[in-house]
Amino acid sequence: MVDVDALANAIFSGDRVALGKAITLVESTRSADRLSASQLLKSILPKTGNSIRIGVTGVPGVGKSTFIETLGDQVIEAGKKVAVLAIDPSSPQSRGSILGDKTRMERLAANAGAFIRPSASGGHLGGVANKTMEAILLCEACGYDVILVETVGVGQSEIAVKNMTDVFLLLMLAGAGDELQGIKRGIMEMADILVINKADGSNTKQANLARKTYENALHLLAEKESGWATPVLTASAKENIGVDKTWEQILTLEKFLKDKDLFESIRKEQKRHWFDEILGTELMSRIKAETDLNDSLGKLQKEVLSNQITPYKAAEELLDEIFTKKP
Ligand code: GDP
Repeated sequence: MVDVDALANAIFSGDRVALGKAITLVESTRSADRLSASQLLKSILPKTGNSIRIGVTGVPGVGKSTFIETLGDQVIEAGKKVAVLAIDPSSPQSRGSILGDKTRMERLAANAGAFIRPSASGGHLGGVANKTMEAILLCEACGYDVILVETVGVGQSEIAVKNMTDVFLLLMLAGAGDELQGIKRGIMEMADILVINKADGSNTKQANLARKTYENALHLLAEKESGWATPVLTASAKENIGVDKTWEQILTLEKFLKDKDLFESIRKEQKRHWFDEILGTELMSRIKAETDLNDSLGKLQKEVLSNQITPYKAAEELLDEIFTKKP
């Protein structure tokens, strides 16, 4: 059995090993571990929230790890502690855990001010996202002021990361004339800061051109509700050019949101979102765990597909069955 109090105290003292253990505990699916994890999260909750949470996305190869490493070094130099987490609902087609490769971010990993955690692997996105959110809280309780959540810019996981971070950074490449095709418009709309990476050597000119193209493209998108205008920057993570400017923009956005009292209200909205989301998925998994309900679910699904019943009516029938069920 895990000594939850001892683990919590070790986390509060900034113990990286304890933090790693705690994240393993919240990722565990064993029921005894779930219980300890939930006690641990409850006890650390009052010491969470005191960080800036930054989502970093972009297609594989755009330079996310290199960028995070360069940014991380700088931020640590400025006296902060940096944690790097990842969301990667690994599909059999993908290359697996995005931070899994130990050779990545070696320099940053060796820095005492950094904590790097490969993503929780497997499972559905909701589950992986939930573990990542819990990991964010644990990092905060352990004193990390800057939390970077990396994800691959190819699908659904961006929305999950957007919904758990304060700042959403999109890394892009100056493409061979297809600037606007590589990344989905929806992801561009979500971005708070857009960075054209690999703006170095012979690529510099193209990167500057791409910056203008994206600036124009962003003008055509609807303005953000907060009133924040997404800046487009060029950078070279490898040569450490423009990474400092990106950090400045992150801080500018943080101040912008705080000045407008939006920082906390956005976080509250995110909590509401995840509560609803988790309630929905947990309800579904409980239904599936009960044989008779699961049978009804299967039957209703078939009836919906064969047009015998509307989806709304089917949902209503199943809910009636749940709520009239005898204990
Ligand atoms: P990720 O898959 O998005 O995490 O990308 P990586 O950080 O692993 O980088 C992919 C490749 O691009 C590596 O070979 C890096 O050395 C290279 N790379 C990353 N950033 C830059 C940069 O700013 N300029 C140049 N020229 N290459 C870079």
